[in-house]
Amino acid sequence: MKHKVLVLCFLLSQVSFLMSSENYGIAVHGGAGVMKNLSENQKQKIEEQIIKTLTEAFKIIEQGGTSMDAVEFAVSEFEDSPLFNAGRGSVYNSEEVQEMDASIMSGQNRSAGAVASVRTIKNPIKVARKVADLTEHVMLIGEGAEKFAEQIGEEIVSKDYFYSEKNLKRLRKAKNKSTNLNLIQDKIGTVGAVAIDKYGNIAAATSTGGMTNKMPGRVGDSPIIGSGTWAQNNVCGVSSTGHGEFFIKYQVAKEVCTRIEYLNKSIVEASQEIIDELEQIEAYGGIIAIDYDANIAMPFNTDGMIRGGITNKRKIFVEIY
Ligand code: ASP
Repeated sequence: MKHKVLVLCFLLSQVSFLMSSENYGIAVHGGAGVMKNLSENQKQKIEEQIIKTLTEAFKIIEQGGTSMDAVEFAVSEFEDSPLFNAGRGSVYNSEEVQEMDASIMSGQNRSAGAVASVRTIKNPIKVARKVADLTEHVMLIGEGAEKFAEQIGEEIVSKDYFYSEKNLKRLRKAKNKSTNLNLIQDKIGTVGAVAIDKYGNIAAATSTGGMTNKMPGRVGDSPIIGSGTWAQNNVCGVSSTGHGEFFIKYQVAKEVCTRIEYLNKSIVEASQEIIDELEQIEAYGGIIAIDYDANIAMPFNTDGMIRGGITNKRKIFVEIY
């Protein structure tokens, strides 16, 4: 009898895997922060990059690819751009070193991978995916992660690749101000993506250089599963951006899905509520979230958040304020 029940459960799980999802799509963010000083030229470049990446990532899903492939692709494209605080555009820590964090999660089976405090990996998100796919672990940090990246043939680059005069200036300004970390975050953001594919599988990914002037070795929420990134089939997928310490302590990404799952909230209600609660404790940032029906929510409590999306039921959009 027990055997029959097990076989039935297995068959049902396979049917749900093979079942196609009626609605599908992808949303991305390029960080939350103070955006009011962005020049027209910067805005245009950012918008062009978001549109290009969304178009290509959506094509992956439309052609039957997986949400994991789509979010990894989108985040790696942003990592290659100096416009965002991830990969090539990463900000500096207090010792003028760039230390990057990234994570990815599949809602299909809770497979998850992350890297933290890496300095030489060109695309931290690609290595995070490999941690999920090829190892028995969830997170690798520092030298161990870099050694792993090298062993599996992921691209390693020299310090020069990440060099940024602008980000050094940003660091010096932050040091002079000797102010709260949160108040000096401007115009340049962490990146993330959430997606649901035609098979109903939800995925989420996040990548960052962290916060300007952070202590060496500091790790924020972006590589923490449940804080910066969460994906759960039939519920939602979330990627966070903002003051990481709070996003860790309030387990923000998972919390959104938990409220949908147990309190029957809509994605818009659950996401907005948590962002409002963070604001009450002066924790600033935003999230992007997608649910099981490809509805998107993108609340933030900062001046702006670079964001965009496209689904089979909503045409492509990009917004900053
Ligand atoms: N959440 C990131 C961190 O704390 C920073 C950001 O999203 O701007 O590392």
